[in-house]
Amino acid sequence: MRIVLLGAPGSGKGTQCKSLVEKYGLLHMSSGDILRKERAAKSELGQKAQSYMDSGALVPDDLIIEMMSKAIKEAPKSGFILDGFPRTVNQAIELDKAMADAGMKIDFVLNLEVDDSIIEKRITGRRSCPKCGAVYHIENMKPKQDGICDNDETELVQRADDTAEVVAKRLDNYHQQTEPLVDYYKKNGNVYDLRSDRDPEIVKEDIFKILDF
Ligand code: ADP
Repeated sequence: MRIVLLGAPGSGKGTQCKSLVEKYGLLHMSSGDILRKERAAKSELGQKAQSYMDSGALVPDDLIIEMMSKAIKEAPKSGFILDGFPRTVNQAIELDKAMADAGMKIDFVLNLEVDDSIIEKRITGRRSCPKCGAVYHIENMKPKQDGICDNDETELVQRADDTAEVVAKRLDNYHQQTEPLVDYYKKNGNVYDLRSDRDPEIVKEDIFKILDF
């Protein structure tokens, strides 16, 4: 099974991916996570991506397409979830080509919908563990001890691009460059819209119903 997960930053893509990985054994391919790893390793790609990411801009298509085409080629036959890619119509066209070359297709496009006002609160309160990647929220999903990861007691950090100013830019980009993808995929009839301002457990059950049908 191959899935594309669409949704604005902070719409719950990461949370839902975790459940999908657990239930269906899919590989989670997050373009943002791959880029953050490249940055941490100080690779050429990581260094090129850095300034775009910190300012809330999209990394140029050619860099992303090359990076994700490689990841897709190496993906297991059991399937994967794409999270954060494609993010422009051009990226989607290139993804279709890469999938056709590999004799594969996207089976489901899941579109998580949340209003901007909720997203701003979610993202600016988001804190994560730099060691294990666990994600918390200063009001809605507090760790047991303030600012400390429950799993490994590492001090939690805020992503450099999770500040109010950068979030506004990321949301703008989302509406302008990524939202048109919903119509692009609707032509194929495999898009499922899900309100993601509800309890994540309920959203998860709705997703399972769609995939298991
Ligand atoms: P979010 O979905 O919360 O905005 P991500 O972790 O998916 O965050 O992405 C973080 C940043 O990485 C983006 O703001 C952008 O700069 C870059 N990025 C990730 N995926 C892509 C992509 N497909 N195309 C262009 N830039 C990307």
